[in-house]
Amino acid sequence: MDANALAIINTLNSAGFQGYLVGGCVRDLLCGKRPKDFDIATDATLPEVKKLFRRARIVGRRFPIVHVRHGREIIEVSTFRQSISNNVVHDDQGMILRDSTEGTLEEDAFRRDFTINALYYDPIQAEIIDFVGGLADIKRQRIRFIGKPAVRIAEDPVRMLRAIRFAAKLGFDIDAAITDLSADAADRLAAIPPARLFDEFTKLFLSGHSLAVWELLVSFGLATTLFPACNPNSSLATLAMRNTDHRIAEGASVTPGFLLAIVLWEDFQARLANSLSASDHPAVLTLRDQQQRIAVPRRFSTFIHEVWGLQVRLETRSRRSASRLLQHKRFRAGYDFLCLRAESEPELQETASWWTTLQSVDAETRGAMIAALPQTKRRRRRKKSEPT
Ligand code: ATP
Ligand code: MG
Repeated sequence: MDANALAIINTLNSAGFQGYLVGGCVRDLLCGKRPKDFDIATDATLPEVKKLFRRARIVGRRFPIVHVRHGREIIEVSTFRQSISNNVVHDDQGMILRDSTEGTLEEDAFRRDFTINALYYDPIQAEIIDFVGGLADIKRQRIRFIGKPAVRIAEDPVRMLRAIRFAAKLGFDIDAAITDLSADAADRLAAIPPARLFDEFTKLFLSGHSLAVWELLVSFGLATTLFPACNPNSSLATLAMRNTDHRIAEGASVTPGFLLAIVLWEDFQARLANSLSASDHPAVLTLRDQQQRIAVPRRFSTFIHEVWGLQVRLETRSRRSASRLLQHKRFRAGYDFLCLRAESEPELQETASWWTTLQSVDAETRGAMIAALPQTKRRRRRKKSEPT
């Protein structure tokens, strides 16, 4: 149990408020997994919470909560939500635009998405509080909505992506009543702000279970909802997802830019092949279309341009550019990308192993390898295939 979260609950209790651990941390602890973060639910209002803690601030618009900082850790404290009928603002499709607060513990439980996410831990009584059958669903390894699935998806279609994320992470089954709504969710996800989908995208793919997430997205018909130009059957995507999961398991760094570069690669290549008359760079067009769905922050789109741009240069292997490429700040990512491509494109294997060898040999051998290269023109392809 997290000492900081318990200290916060103590402070809430001392001020006369209730405080429970809730959500992912309770679920993950019950599943024998290490929680990613700790969420607390309380009957104190957000301003009341804020007053109790020195390093606290109210964040979020749709579902405002308080971030309480303890050392380097941020703990999310939310006020019990009321029943859906009270003070919740919907759009004409049933989507929740602004939520209510100041409900009771029980009301709050029914507002959460899945039964497995609506368990509360009361550290004073040392007991789990379960209004919705969440414990039974954890035992049966099942992801089930609280209430009517169609209504819960209409309120917030991102819940479909959350179902996939938890299924991939925990190895649970998704209730058939949820699966049946995947086409409906796909339509409704178009109304979600691209910035929120970027957040969800990173949670989906950087959790260490990206292959399982990808396969579920594909089988639910949602891969093309998130990445309209992707090829759901891409073997490159499968290889990259597996590779990402290995990296995360080993504690290596991963970036959302790399996976986006992977899933959009075929579209970029297709545009490149047809780009003779286009005025914009194909990479810019591929990313511009993707931005309609997922708001990719600038640093990641720059990264994608760099990694794509490096591909031609790595493939060309000229005497002039080889040692400079080794110094390129994206060399490592570009090289990893090339190696993944080589796994599904045998004609690239020789080039990829050349670069692998180049990095492992001493300076003298490296010099000799580079000197043996042809003195190719610096730009073999049109300018358009170079990074911007
Ligand atoms: P993790 O933190 O491991 O990703 P989590 O379940 O804690 O998973 P959070 O996004 O941190 O997910 O949300 C905390 C809790 O808030 C959830 O467990 C759930 O009870 C509730 N919640 C979050 N998002 C929603 C949503 N879109 N609809 C309903 N309830 C939600
Ligand atoms: Mg959480």
